[in-house]
Amino acid sequence: MSKKRKVVVIGGGIGGYPAAIKAARLGAEVTLIEKADLGGTCLNWGCIPTKSLLHGAEVFRLVKEAPTFGIKTTKPIVDMGTLMGRKDQVVLGLRRGVAGLLKAKKIVVLQGEAELLDPCTVRVGKKKLLADSVILATGSLPTSPPILGLDDITAWDSNDFLSMTSLPESAIIIGGGVIGVEFAQILNGLGCQVTLIEMMPQLVPSLDGEIAHAFQKSLRSQGIQVVTGAKISKIGKSGKCSVIEYQSDNQKSQIEAQQLIVATGRRPASDGLRADKIGLELEGAAVKVDQYMSTNLSNVYAVGDLTGGVMLAHLAMAEGECAAVNAMGGKQTMDYSSIPSCIYTMPQVASVGLSEEQAKERQKISVGIFPFSGVGKAAVLSQQEGFVKIVAGAQYGEVLGVHIIGPQATDLISEAALALNLEATVEEIAQTIHPHPTLSEAVMEAAMKLSGGAVHVP
Ligand code: FAD
Repeated sequence: MSKKRKVVVIGGGIGGYPAAIKAARLGAEVTLIEKADLGGTCLNWGCIPTKSLLHGAEVFRLVKEAPTFGIKTTKPIVDMGTLMGRKDQVVLGLRRGVAGLLKAKKIVVLQGEAELLDPCTVRVGKKKLLADSVILATGSLPTSPPILGLDDITAWDSNDFLSMTSLPESAIIIGGGVIGVEFAQILNGLGCQVTLIEMMPQLVPSLDGEIAHAFQKSLRSQGIQVVTGAKISKIGKSGKCSVIEYQSDNQKSQIEAQQLIVATGRRPASDGLRADKIGLELEGAAVKVDQYMSTNLSNVYAVGDLTGGVMLAHLAMAEGECAAVNAMGGKQTMDYSSIPSCIYTMPQVASVGLSEEQAKERQKISVGIFPFSGVGKAAVLSQQEGFVKIVAGAQYGEVLGVHIIGPQATDLISEAALALNLEATVEEIAQTIHPHPTLSEAVMEAAMKLSGGAVHVP
């Protein structure tokens, strides 16, 4: 019987554990090393707990709106203990699920901080493991911007936010990226007064301009104060409040709030890898990889947030699986052209492919927009805000990008990701019969607009 390949995975997040499962499925003897909790940032301190809190805020809003649907309620109040407790239960349940999956694949899970001694040797505690291949998946850590006075303030990072025991009366969130806007929505939805302050001219700078504009307008209409193009000069204290001095539109302003929250991004967690000692090539803090997720050291792969760039859970998972296939002798490459990105606010925002601005720079395009106000299911839900926007090639109608703001945008985007992946045209989407009444009809009608005309707009 031939000897099994030994694969060691460092980091049990959504980059690492799917890599371990894939390698085991392909016949490897796999050891996974995790220094904290299985599931990593996404499950314990990211995607899942934030979505649990966002859902809580959404339920609160729906209960307040219940009379519109003919349901009488007494005045709802938020019980933070139960809300946070439920979030913890969701996380715990899923974490146990991950442990079960690893056990079912006979993957050895070691608890501890791993070190790479050389490309074939990993140390964890007193144990030294020999590996044919190593997959590095150590994730990322929150960063703090260099702002005068910030070190003297007890500001929350994302982990502090997800551990809050009571709702602040007011909050300033520095950073209007995806994490910042989701935090703003949670706090505002639960009844906290929120100011979101972003350095760039628009929130979530990677968004298509038209979508970003509609999104900003919507957040403002919900009572979130949004400041963009702001340069913060100083942070100080006034009684129990944090005070921020900033400049925007050539005007100096000052705001204060009970709680300051920093959501300005994350950096790859490469510090503990001994990169300089073993000759592992970095680019800034990120481990440099090629299209096979291979590092410069033979048989050492790196995946997920550790490799820098766009930090998304589903991307980390795809990279993990790609690295595992290659660690087992395959030649799989990563394709970054159709990775959806989502914001789970109300309204939701989701996009895949090129924005209108990016597509215009490359070729002649046409744009089809269909509003949710023309969709029966959106009327049923009383959620008619938003639209679907398809960016397509002007000559052949090939789908270049899809951008959605509105109800269930984060689920609807999967159809668009598939369309991009299959190099579909708008005609092919338009000719695909979509079920009625569903929100997905907005995607079909936006495609119809570019190929003969939509039905439900005059
Ligand atoms: P991680 O999940 O960070 O896992 C790395 C693991 O490695 C950790 O468990 C760590 O303890 C372990 N580790 C580190 N060093 C060592 C060592 N030396 N030895 C052993 N173990 C080690 N992405 C989305 O796609 N959708 C979302 O909705 C979303 N929401 C987010 C919300 C927040 C607040 C945050 C912070 C992030 C969010 N993300 C979201 C991003 C997502 O969480 C990350 O992209 C994803 O977790 C990256 O996975 P990873 O496996 O690369 O790293």
